[in-house]
Amino acid sequence: MNDARQELVEQLLDVLKDHRLAHSVAATRGYCAYCYSDLIQKNSQGYAKDHILPRGTYERYEDDERNWILSCHGCNEFKCTFDPVRADQGENAEDMLTRCHAELIQRSREHIRRKRAESEGQWRDRTRRIVRGADRIDPRIDRFIIDIPDATPGLIRAYRLDDRQTLLAIMRYNRLIDMFLGLTTYSLQNHLRTAVKGMGPIEVDELYIGIDKRGQHYVVPVQAKGGSDRIGTMQAAQYISFVRERFPDVPCRTIAAQFMDEEIIAMFELTERNDGIKVIEERHYRLVPTKESG
Ligand SMILES: [Zn+2]
Repeated sequence: MNDARQELVEQLLDVLKDHRLAHSVAATRGYCAYCYSDLIQKNSQGYAKDHILPRGTYERYEDDERNWILSCHGCNEFKCTFDPVRADQGENAEDMLTRCHAELIQRSREHIRRKRAESEGQWRDRTRRIVRGADRIDPRIDRFIIDIPDATPGLIRAYRLDDRQTLLAIMRYNRLIDMFLGLTTYSLQNHLRTAVKGMGPIEVDELYIGIDKRGQHYVVPVQAKGGSDRIGTMQAAQYISFVRERFPDVPCRTIAAQFMDEEIIAMFELTERNDGIKVIEERHYRLVPTKESG
């Protein structure tokens, strides 16, 4: 152990001087007894006092120092109620705790490894399912086109930056989300950069909050595509996960919009089913100068 680390261990021991866990900190040198992660490091998640023999099964060893070991919170949770004593093979808890301490820890370590791998496997499967189903959604060419008077300020069109920005602005000025969903919606934020568990960082093009005539609220994430970009089901899955994670009690209405040509906008409502992202509804709107409509 290098001097700096020795110093840290001693500081920690000092803090724990009156705490009976001190011997465990010294025994593991401040690392998790199971996964060896560093519990002293600045960004460490802190430590847990793990009971080698689970508390529920062995009440009499709950306050026995021999039964305590320093671990990280993750290993402590994965170990849960695992009992490393093989009573069915004639092993005796007292005997094992006295003479086979290291063996009990090794068995727990293997159990934790299995549990951790299982849990990571479940995440991988879910992500793989979404990625495998990842696809593009294209507007159908045979749809009826709904003409609407264009309320986009001329200045917005004159200073257009890119297709995606312009599409988001046109949808906002013409209240296309309201028209499409039959809700009253308000733009909460655009280009929302956030992260979704297991999916990493995402960017929501625009997030609306909606309300229906009965007062029910909705969260409406919108993806907008201009130019040759196509609507992605992966992005829709990310948006749905984001809403579930951040607003678990509010229903999600996921929207995708695409410029078909300068004047026609295809809008989709998407939802997640067991077999992937599906289109609930598709409508095409054409923005026409006010005098031409009606
Ligand atoms: Zn650990």
